[in-house]
Amino acid sequence: MRYISTRGQAPALSFEEVVLTGMASDGGLYVPETVPQFSADELADMAGLSYAEIAFRVMKPFVNGEIDDETFRALVTDAYATFSHDAVVPLNQLDANHFLLELFHGPTLAFKDVALQLLGRLLDHFLSKRGERAVIMGATSGDTGSAAIEGCRHCDNLDIFILHPHNRVSEVQRRQMTSVLADNVFNIAIEGNFDDAQAMVKASFADQSFLGGTRLVAVNSINWARIMAQIVYYVASAVALGAPRRSVSFCVPSANFGNVFAGYMAYRMGLPVERFVIATNANDILHRTLADNDFSKTELKATLAPSMDIVVSSNFERLLFEAYERDGAAVAALLERFQSEPSALADAPLSRLREKFSSHSVDDATILEVIREAHQRTHEILDPHTATGYRAAERVRGDAAVPMITLATAHPAKFAEAVVKAGFPGVPLPPHMDDLLEREERYTVLPAELAAVQRFVAENRR
Ligand SMILES: *Cc1c(COP(=O)(O)O)cnc(C)c1O
Repeated sequence: MRYISTRGQAPALSFEEVVLTGMASDGGLYVPETVPQFSADELADMAGLSYAEIAFRVMKPFVNGEIDDETFRALVTDAYATFSHDAVVPLNQLDANHFLLELFHGPTLAFKDVALQLLGRLLDHFLSKRGERAVIMGATSGDTGSAAIEGCRHCDNLDIFILHPHNRVSEVQRRQMTSVLADNVFNIAIEGNFDDAQAMVKASFADQSFLGGTRLVAVNSINWARIMAQIVYYVASAVALGAPRRSVSFCVPSANFGNVFAGYMAYRMGLPVERFVIATNANDILHRTLADNDFSKTELKATLAPSMDIVVSSNFERLLFEAYERDGAAVAALLERFQSEPSALADAPLSRLREKFSSHSVDDATILEVIREAHQRTHEILDPHTATGYRAAERVRGDAAVPMITLATAHPAKFAEAVVKAGFPGVPLPPHMDDLLEREERYTVLPAELAAVQRFVAENRR
């Protein structure tokens, strides 16, 4: 198995190389050259297995023998032992045929833990094999930074530097990052905003000379290993509900499209999926594209579901590559045009997408209404991201006989602001985090100057 770029001009890579590489050199994203297939029997055999065992079986073809089975199984088992629920990602039945897939039982209470707990371990494994060390740099407006830190805190060969805007992330989100006191974890509070932090990370990737040859690694959602890890819970939840004998549908609160693209991969591998419903907040590029073929950027809107606040949906390129029947030149042309002007998909690729995907956009007022309504009907308090999914699933349901699985992407305690606005007194943090507000913190405040940040990284990496 090799990995190829969605723009067709970058060299094909091995699994190891694709884990260590972010974006392809032609500006595209890496995807597997062929899609591994699971027979109905192989899927049926997964019913009732532990999550770690299903994860091992689903991901093994992508790893392509580059990690021996015993080692890979140990990495996977270790990654998912950090989750606080025995099922790792339990299904919660809401009504006769609507289920929540709770992806928030990991260390930081959001679904990004599922991928980042594994990615940190994969990186560490490959670096240790090569006798190399690497530096991770990332900017966060609050949410993903903590998942990346938790994924890397035990990795001997990685040092992680996460930049957040000083005094502009919530206390819970800051503490989830800054209370990790591991020697390889460095939190930098930038005296500026998120865009300043992100610009400094981008500049550091563009010119890495300040690291004197040490590899700089990105753990953002374009890393193939993150998609791969997310395929697993689509398979695990569908077989739990009777796949491959019966098909299911999924509703996915979406932003950068990494999560729902993983679901699409599961479908392409043989999982019987009737339909994917894409839920967006008011940042609705995915919905506008699917519903109106309006593939254009609009202003960023700050919403009550902040982890879905995006202008451009980076992983959508991977689906476009499939919709354009793997014509890298056509994808490159479309995305280059899109950078500078409102665009549209060609007719045939758009109809291919509409065969499998529906979409719905949910504004802030509706998010609050849904949190109240869902609580009244099901006694669950949904987080605002999951609320967009709940509404989209109800509205775009299709065949009511097909089980609908809505992905619950975050624990409501993590986004208490929306829950309180919806009229609830708040949601307590789960027991393993209830002392978060008393834990010791460590972070360094730096001016929004590239040279100062790069000096700090170069001097502190081990
Ligand atoms: C990142 C995130 C999303 C969006 O996922 P994508 O893979 O970017 O589509 C949704 N909900 C929460 C809570 C998130 O953290």
